[in-house]
Amino acid sequence: MTKRSVLISGAGVAGPLLAYWLGRHGFRPTVVERAPALRDGGYKVDVRGAAVDVLKRSGVYAAARGRDTGMRQVTYVKTDGRPIASLDANMLMGRRGDDIELMRGDLVRILHDAAAPSTEFVYGDSISAIEADGSVRFASGTTRRFDVIVGADGLHSNTRRLAGLDAPLTHLGAYLSICSVPNNLRLDREEVFWAVPGRMIFLYSTGPDHPAKAGMVFASPELPRAEITRDTVLSRFAGHGWEVPRLLEAIAAGSSDDFYVDGLSQVDLPRWSAGRVVLLGDAAYCPSPASGMGTSEALVGAYVLASALARHPGHEAAFAEYERVVRPYAEKNLTLGKKLAGQMVPGGRASIAMRNYAMRTLRFNPWHRQIIESVTKPIHEAAAAVQLPADASPTLV
Ligand SMILES: Cc1cc2nc3c(=O)[nH]c(=O)nc-3n(C[C@H](O)[C@H](O)[C@H](O)COP(=O)(O)OP(=O)(O)OC[C@H]3O[C@@H](n4cnc5c(N)ncnc54)[C@H](O)[C@@H]3O)c2cc1C
Repeated sequence: MTKRSVLISGAGVAGPLLAYWLGRHGFRPTVVERAPALRDGGYKVDVRGAAVDVLKRSGVYAAARGRDTGMRQVTYVKTDGRPIASLDANMLMGRRGDDIELMRGDLVRILHDAAAPSTEFVYGDSISAIEADGSVRFASGTTRRFDVIVGADGLHSNTRRLAGLDAPLTHLGAYLSICSVPNNLRLDREEVFWAVPGRMIFLYSTGPDHPAKAGMVFASPELPRAEITRDTVLSRFAGHGWEVPRLLEAIAAGSSDDFYVDGLSQVDLPRWSAGRVVLLGDAAYCPSPASGMGTSEALVGAYVLASALARHPGHEAAFAEYERVVRPYAEKNLTLGKKLAGQMVPGGRASIAMRNYAMRTLRFNPWHRQIIESVTKPIHEAAAAVQLPADASPTLV
């Protein structure tokens, strides 16, 4: 019997994990990535709940755990940089048990290396047309036929558009930029939060001699695509104190080649598949970076889709099973993302003063662990809100 061929668009988080599992289930996976090489830079991401089991079943949990950022503490500062309070990072960010936090690029590299022996990776190319029989034309001019085509190409998925599954993104009222900057504060596994009305900065580093990452969030109604730029970010944060001038200077000088800016947006689609095409990860159900769940969902989605394709000889039945298992989980995380996006950007001075007061007094409260547990409970519930299919293969860890 010939092995079924699967084309996956996107070598991010979901694409390589899907390829790994398809290889293990006896398929022929090909991953096409628009970037000229694996995009292994980026920011820190959480892997939580059911996604931790997925990493364990995939045999890469130990490698991922070995790259944990080991962040120690979160410090809230006043507008002039004076510290308000420092709290334990794992407790405040709601990490539990075997949950991990690592740099997205490290995770992508680990997943790529697991998939590589049984996967064809093609860089610097992209799908330009898809026919009903599975014939795919690439931007490079080549044409090939595949049994199944998977769009794992992120928030602005090209496959989603080509398959006629596109719908407007849901804008959550803010924009987020992130890039590497000099670690002027010599932060050592510490994250610092700074806020003024309508603007927030988070600055962290995994070690005093490593570069820092500066995340900048500003409230705004939806902007035209042409205005979502570095200059817009610079202008929104101009005129503030603390480290802000040095950050803006570094960003303006272009010292970071990994500058990212985009809307805090969600993808919420009525359908995830059409014909031989199915969507996965952010392309299908991006919950927004505010949720801290996009990576976990990409992992869970990839695992469930591979298992469904392996179980069903026909792609329609496989896509239906994948959507039946993953959709309730994705919807729960869309709801979570909306709620957390609302809390991410501070409103007026009064709400910032209230938050500062809460942070300053929290560690003196004998119930502080219980208080944080109750605040982070919805995250744990959303992270565990899926039943992974039983797998015949052993857990490899
Ligand atoms: C600043 C920031 C902070 C975040 N923090 C967290 C966090 O703390 N926790 C968390 O869980 N998640 C977080 N996320 C979200 C997380 O990064 C994503 O949800 C996750 O990476 C989604 O995985 P994916 O594989 O679906 O898409 P991606 O990882 O985005 O990968 C998509 C891939 O497709 C490629 N591609 C795009 N277009 C094409 C094309 N036309 N042809 C071929 N390839 C293409 C891209 O180059 C990319 O390699 C954060 C995101 C951002 C931006």
